[in-house]
Amino acid sequence: MANWNWWPQFHDPSLRLSWREQTAIHWDANLRMLRDWRACWRFTWISVLPVPLLAAALTVATQGLQVAIGGTYTAHANAWLFLGLLLLLTYLFLQHIAFMVAMRRGYLPFVRAALSARGYPTCAACGHLLGPSDPQACPECGSGHRALR
Ligand SMILES: [Zn+2]
Repeated sequence: MANWNWWPQFHDPSLRLSWREQTAIHWDANLRMLRDWRACWRFTWISVLPVPLLAAALTVATQGLQVAIGGTYTAHANAWLFLGLLLLLTYLFLQHIAFMVAMRRGYLPFVRAALSARGYPTCAACGHLLGPSDPQACPECGSGHRALR
């Protein structure tokens, strides 16, 4: 996982876009993505991948609450609640990673296409801003593919 960030880098930082322009680009990127059912499907299934862990966390925590309400096995109740909390934190961590992967694979290509369509030629592979004089290959990552139109 090269260039891992905790939040997707939507465009080249050297490109100073106004909030209004960024909103327009994301609106365009969303519409482009919605026209591509494969991308929507990919985004969805990657995003929901960690959800069974949430179900497990809630089940375990509920078990802990039931034991606690029963009032007899306090140590067991604490163990269940602690395990539930641990699973919940693991879920939140994995959910964020899944969201990031979904954004990268399902959404970022459309942001790059939207940027290119608005006159900011952008490498579809890495998001580097391509100059008008750049050769067909991206100087940053060497990819030969310019953003889709
Ligand atoms: Zn590139």
